[in-house]
Formats: sequence, structure tokens, C-alpha cells
Amino acid sequence: MGTDSFGRRIDYLRISVTDRCNLRCVYCMPPEGVPWKPPEEILSWEEIERFAGIAAKEGISKIRLTGGEPLVRLGIVDHVRRLRKTTGIETIAITTNGTLLPRYAEALVDAGLTRVNISLDTLDPGTYSAITRGGKLADVLKGIDAAFAAGMDPVKINVVVVRSLEQNLLGFARMTMERPVHVRFIEYMPVGGVDLDGTACASTEGEGWTEDDHVPTDEILTVLAAEGAAAGFGELAPVPRDDAPGGWGPARYYRFPDAAGTIGVISPLSHHFCGECNRLRLTADGRLRTCLFSDDELDARTPLRTGTDADIHDLIQLALARKPASHNQKIGTIRRMSQIGG
Ligand code: SAM
Ligand code: SF4
Repeated sequence: MGTDSFGRRIDYLRISVTDRCNLRCVYCMPPEGVPWKPPEEILSWEEIERFAGIAAKEGISKIRLTGGEPLVRLGIVDHVRRLRKTTGIETIAITTNGTLLPRYAEALVDAGLTRVNISLDTLDPGTYSAITRGGKLADVLKGIDAAFAAGMDPVKINVVVVRSLEQNLLGFARMTMERPVHVRFIEYMPVGGVDLDGTACASTEGEGWTEDDHVPTDEILTVLAAEGAAAGFGELAPVPRDDAPGGWGPARYYRFPDAAGTIGVISPLSHHFCGECNRLRLTADGRLRTCLFSDDELDARTPLRTGTDADIHDLIQLALARKPASHNQKIGTIRRMSQIGG
């Protein structure tokens, strides 16, 4: 139970609770946004909770809520509380752009959420506004403070590294010197930009991934080590796997001596970790996705609306059987990242 056809243990479910977002990050959405799915196509909280409860019996022990922006959907706090109570799953995390954490962090922790990944790609207010098309850096920084104040642990920051953006990675390294935050640098991934017929979209503006913008994590580490040493942080050294902060993901961690936090790198393209993949994804409109890079999806919404628990059990087993061995560096998907959840 909970093992796919390649012997990988699948114990992690990422649930996108909405396709809506209050930002328009350049690598994730086109400037005009993506047409939102009509409400009747989005899973209700009850449907998500039913799915999660059955998945828990199939071996899922960790859930991450994502989106779109999960904190824009009304009722998220009570959803977390019910997920904790009804599924028996103890580890419930969230991936958020952080802008609404000042409002929700404390209530989320009270409801049983412990872990947070906050997406933040630059520490410069002007660049942040440009990358997110109008977001305010101060809102996210307040969100990070709110996560710490509420006692979330670990607090991780996800930085998508894109060569043509001005990101000043050293500023993030400095942040790890000062507070117990885990900053993970993530390779820019070729998600979105493909039409239903499998060819490139006529307009891929906004999430048109190009090889030139991809920065391999080895390069990121070389730059950070050199700039960190020049700034007097000392030598960047690997953190043993067993000491990785709250680790159930693919990041490899490093630390400057005496730093309060760590630096992680996630290399889906340059060192892909498909052999250790432990996850399934449920989209906001109820599709079960076997791989971030694969448009092979199973319809979970229909059995959730008209089927029995046994039907949903069978669907999860089918997803495990269909999970591919690896993504084979596929470029582009029909869904954009905001419609999958990262
Ligand atoms: N709105 C939330 C947020 O931004 O954290 C959750 C959803 S967002 C789609 C999840 C993660 O995917 C974010 O960390 C975001 O930076 C990342 N992401 C989006 N597009 C990406 C891409 N093309 N390559 C790599 N990461 C991407
Ligand atoms: Fe919204 Fe997250 Fe996509 Fe940015 S990365 S547009 S915050 S869903």
C-alpha cells in the first residue's frame, strides 16, 4: 500500500485548493491572469477532505496545501482544522506567497498547521513588484515575521532563480545568518506554455521558459559560496541529510558557519530526483496528477461527486500504477504552475 510500480513509497499529497491568486508572478501567470475555473468545477472543502481521508488510508501521511494562492480561499483555516481532525494526518503544511500570513498565521497554527514555505524571489522592493506584477515586498516580509511569531516551524523561503531577473542571492544568504530561516533556491521549471494539442501556445508570454533563463543549482551554489566568503560569512558547507530542516522534500542543504538558518537547493532539471519522488498532486478542479511535468491526469472529481470510497481507493491505486519513472526533461505542460500548485 502506498507504493508505486517502481517501488517508491508515496506518502505525500500536494493539494491545490484554488486556481486563484492575488499576484501575477511573471514565470507563473500571464499578465492578464488565467481565466478562473467556475466555482462548480472547483472541489468543495468537503470533497477535498473526503479525498484526503481516503488517501490517508492509502499511506499518505503529509499534506501540503497550495494554489494559486491558498490563503485567498475563504474557509482555509477551518479546512486545516478539519483535515487534522478527520484524516488523522499530522503533518499539514502550506506553500504561500506570504502576503496574507499577517492575517492568518496565528489562526492556521491554532488549527494545526505547522510548516510553511513562503515564496519570495528577491529582497528588492522594486524588483519584487516587477516579478509579481504589483506585489509589495513589505507584505511578504510581514508575513515571514508573522509565521515566526505564530511559531511555525520550519519556516522555509522558496526562491525561483531566473537568470534574466535581478535577484541578489547574497541578500538571502545574509538572511540565513540572522534568523532560523531555510532559504531554498529552486531551478526555474518549464511548466505551462503548451496547447491542448501538445504544441507550444501561440502566446506564452509570462511563463515562456527558455533554456537561457535556467540556472543550474551547481552554479547557484558556486556564486553563493564565493559571495558569502567575500562577505565574511565563512565557508558554505553541506548539512548532513539527517540534519536537513524538516526534510521530506528533494532539497540538498548547506550552511555558513554560525548561521541561524540554512541554504537549500532544489534541482528538478540539473540533478533530477525522480527516483526519490514521493508525491501525488490533486488540482483545485479535482484532477489527480502523477507528475508535475506530465499532463497525464485522472479524474477524481467525478468519483468524489458520484462514487463510493472504493472508487476513490481504486483511482489512487491507478495513479500509483501510472506514475512515471521520471519526467525525462519534458518541456512544457498544458496547465500552468498556478493551476497545478508547484
Ligand atoms: N501561490 C503560492 C506561492 O507562490 O507560494 C503557491 C502556489 S505557487 C504555483 C507554488 C510554487 O511554485 C511557488 O514557490 C512558485 O515560486 C513556484 N513556481 C511557479 N512557477 C514556477 C516555475 N516555472 N518554475 C519553478 N517554480 C515555479
Ligand atoms: Fe500566484 Fe504563487 Fe503563481 Fe506567484 S507563484 S502567481 S503567488 S500562484
